[in-house]
Amino acid sequence: ARNELAVYYQPKVDLAGRIVGAEALIRWRHSELGMISPAKFIPLAEQSGLIIEIGEWVLEQTCLLVNECRTRGLGPLRISVNLSAIDFKRPGLVEKIAEILDKTGVDPSSIELELTESVTVGDIKACIGIMNRLKALGLTLSMDDFGTGFSSLSYIKDLPIDVLKLDQSFIHGLDAENSSRAIVRAILALADGSGLEAVAEGVENQSQLEFLKQHQCGIFQGYLFSRPIPSDDFLQLLIDSEKNGPTVQADVGPR
Ligand code: C2E
Ligand code: MG
Ligand code: MG
Repeated sequence: ARNELAVYYQPKVDLAGRIVGAEALIRWRHSELGMISPAKFIPLAEQSGLIIEIGEWVLEQTCLLVNECRTRGLGPLRISVNLSAIDFKRPGLVEKIAEILDKTGVDPSSIELELTESVTVGDIKACIGIMNRLKALGLTLSMDDFGTGFSSLSYIKDLPIDVLKLDQSFIHGLDAENSSRAIVRAILALADGSGLEAVAEGVENQSQLEFLKQHQCGIFQGYLFSRPIPSDDFLQLLIDSEKNGPTVQADVGPR
């Protein structure tokens, strides 16, 4: 109501450094407390039920941005939106999403939904049913934070997902831990063998990027390329990268 929420976008880049998409990440610019992390307020929004309204708003903003990119001849792009497990499980979710896609006239193949393993807690058959209906709308589905929590390898087999997002804790561990390197290699091999797209999140330095490239990861997201930025800045970044060649320079500015 106070207009303090904003959707930021963090670019995702391919092997050639081209921007192929982004992740929508919500921000709360509080008038007195400053910037509040979604890690703090999303759980509260889930408890209060406000997450439903927030989720719809983030999706709609993202559809409008995708349309704007298309009108300006930027892309092709696929932009992902995080879907809370509470939201995923509510009745009428698929109809509501279909309504937003319809209202905005967005091309659904430009929209990806990021789910976490918590959507599978409870009735797995019902979960698969909802996922199939979302895919029938033309949306892409990705499993966020893969490899953490209760995520089970059988999800790769049972769930109709298109993308595996490697959790950033493994990417950060690449610098120092043999175990993280082994886990990342194994997840990338699983994705490759199962025909899933792999996205690495939290890529912060060149050596992490090199390791990921060597092991068949195709899409990267992280501070090495860009922090999450307001939608106008994201549009400008797309315009600049189209003008100056495809490569996004590593972002070495302050965090
Ligand atoms: P997530 O979906 O796993 O998002 C990735 C988080 O990693 C983001 O944190 C992003 O800013 C951060 N990140 C990206 N690159 C790097 C990097 O190179 N290094 C490090 N250290 N961090 C990086 P953020 O924006 O604070 O969001 C936190 C979580 O809040 C998200 O995790 C997601 O679960 C949730 N969230 C954010 N926006 C939304 C939303 O619109 N709806 C829902 N339901 N959840 C959201
Ligand atoms: Mg995410
Ligand atoms: Mg994540």
